[in-house]
This record gives sequence, C-alpha cells and structure tokens, in this order.
Amino acid sequence: MNISSRDHSTFTESLAGSGRDPIKHIQTVYVEESCLHLPYTQAILERAREIPHKTIPDGSLPECGDAPYPDNLRKGKQTLLLCRNHGKFLKPCPATREYRCCDYQVLNIGMNCPMDCVYCILQAYMNNPHLSFFVNTDDLLKEIDAALQNEPHRFLRIGTGEFTDSLALDGLTGLSKMLVEHMRDKSNAVLELKTKTSVINNLKNLNHKGRTIVSWSLNAPQIMNREERKTASLEKRLAAANRCADWGYKLAFHFDPIIFHPGWEQGYAETIDKLLDTVPKDRIVWISMGTLRFLPHLKHIALRRFPNSKFFHEEFVLGLDNKYRYFRTLRVEMYKKLYALMREKVADSTCLYFCMESDEIWQEIFGFVPEDHGGLPAMLDRAVEAVT
Ligand code: SF4
Repeated sequence: MNISSRDHSTFTESLAGSGRDPIKHIQTVYVEESCLHLPYTQAILERAREIPHKTIPDGSLPECGDAPYPDNLRKGKQTLLLCRNHGKFLKPCPATREYRCCDYQVLNIGMNCPMDCVYCILQAYMNNPHLSFFVNTDDLLKEIDAALQNEPHRFLRIGTGEFTDSLALDGLTGLSKMLVEHMRDKSNAVLELKTKTSVINNLKNLNHKGRTIVSWSLNAPQIMNREERKTASLEKRLAAANRCADWGYKLAFHFDPIIFHPGWEQGYAETIDKLLDTVPKDRIVWISMGTLRFLPHLKHIALRRFPNSKFFHEEFVLGLDNKYRYFRTLRVEMYKKLYALMREKVADSTCLYFCMESDEIWQEIFGFVPEDHGGLPAMLDRAVEAVT
C-alpha cells in the first residue's frame, strides 16, 4: 500500500472561501492497483496531489470507518475510489412503463456524490458509502461511439448526472472537457451535464459546437439552503449558467424534486423569477418539473441521517413505480403554480415537461399529452435543435 504523506489541511484551507467546490470535501483518494499506471489516473492524482492517496488491490473497498451503512455515508462521501468500470457505461434511464419518460441515456461515470441532499435517491440505491469514479474512459468513449454508429438515425440525449453529479468532481477529473470535445462532432446526439455546483471552469474555451447542454437542478431557496447540503447557492448556480450561456452553451433546468413545505409558493416563485429574469431565455432548451418521489426505505435512511428534516412527514401515496409521491391533488396544485409562473416568461423554443408523470397530469396541466406532439422524446429532440 502506497500512502502519500502530504498535508491535506493545507489543501482544504486553500479552498476555504473559494465557493463550494465539492472536491474540498475529499479527504482520501484510493486507486485500484491495475488503474494506477493509466495516464488519466496519473493526471487526476497530480491534480489531487494535496490529498492523501492509497493504492489498493482491485476489488477491495476503501476504509470508511466501522459504522454500518448508512451511518458511514458521511465518511464515505469524503473518500474517492478511482477504479475500472467492468460493466456497461451507457444504459437507458430506468423508467417505468406507467409514466411518461423521456427516453434518456444514462452515461455512468461513477457512483455517489460529495454533496449531501437529504432527498438523494442514491442513499437508497447504494450499499457502499464511498465515491467511485471510473478511469477507463477509453472504454467509455468507445461505447458512446458504438451506440451512435449502431443507430445512426436515432437521436440520443446522453447525461452523466444520474448516479452522481456531473460536475462535482470535475475539478479533479477534468472529465467534462473530454466529453464535451468528444461529443462536438456527433450529429445524432447531445450531452447533458447536470449539476448543483458552480464548477464550470473546465467548460471555458471549449469548442463544443452546440452538442453540450449544461443544466442545473433548482429548488425553492429554503429547500436549497436546508436540504441540499454542500451544494452551490441559487445565486451561484445562476451565475454559472450565465457564464455558460456566454460561452455559447445551451442550458437546461430541472425543478426536481418539487417539495411541499411552508411557503412553497413564494419560494418557487422567487426561484423562477430569478431564473427567468437573469438567464438568457433563448438559451434554455428545456425545463423539467417533477414532484418528490422516493423508494420506501429512503425515508428511513434520510431521517436517520437528517432527523431535523420535516418534509418526509407529509402524506404520500405509493405509485405504480413503487415509489411514494404526493397525492394527485397536491401534485396538480404545485404543477399548476409552477407552470403558471413559467409559461408567460419562457421562450417559445423552451420545452417544459414533466419527469415521470401520467398522461392525465399532462392533460390537466398542459392541456395536451406528449403523443399529441409526437411523444416526449421527439419534443425534447426538437427542443435541442431549436436553440442554435
Ligand atoms: S447533488 Fe444530486 S447526486 Fe449529489 S447528493 Fe444531491 S441529489 Fe444526490
């Protein structure tokens, strides 16, 4: 085992006050033995030179304390494993037949996230607490190419923000640059980088040719401040979006999960006003809405870790996807409010849509169902091309 002895405190102190770059929370980097020689691994270790690192045999796990899961998540989120992905990188989003899905392709770049949202679904999906990042990126790029060549007439929307945050580790990995430059000449695909950070410096001066959308998850200020721990503030997310717009990127936003809480109407109105008053509307490709939904055991995990959070104590109903969600009347009330706030202000080219909702909800809120416009995937594909 090779243990770096450099002083990590200097590193964390140097980042204090520099915003909320999530890499400041990483305390130890582990590397699988067989990945150590890769030039990409070496480049990451060079950027992480102030963080202690250890080499471990392939297949073994980083030390994250003796506490059982999920009590060890706090420590695990400070522990990064650089390893090889032996499975597939690209998979369709695990949607449910009963709800309208957007036919998204998930690019799996690693698991877990150094930020800590109370509602994060990953807490219920995982049983290991550490962060992992896959360094066999040659395989990843080849898999993207094969998928696009196999179906040249299909348009793929590919996103990295399903099992982690797309940019949370970018200060160490630099993956965004690699992906943006790889995707720029793909005429039948677009890349979406979805984040709650303001870590966008690696996107500057890239020749992206409009094939990358940078997107932010947004929420009411109270939710962002209390329930999205270690994330960037609303102001920082919007400032980052503005910079990306200046650099020619297409933008997207996700109001997901919309959470019922005292003052929710004013809270979401404040965020929507700030978004649409400050970000160039003609750069926004889509805005999604989805109310809180969660696997039954997420509630137990989240309340054990965050006993002061209140929003899980509302009434929920078990949906067809075996996830709890708010009763339909409350979902409709919240969607109507958000839609009313947005519809007058968004550009005609921006696609507003629901993530995982029924046709009945689409009809009630929007007055149409996706099939009336060729289906949700086609609506989103058109929206990509409408923003030039
Ligand atoms: S930013 Fe996303 S991935 Fe990270 S903790 Fe929050 S919900 Fe989970």
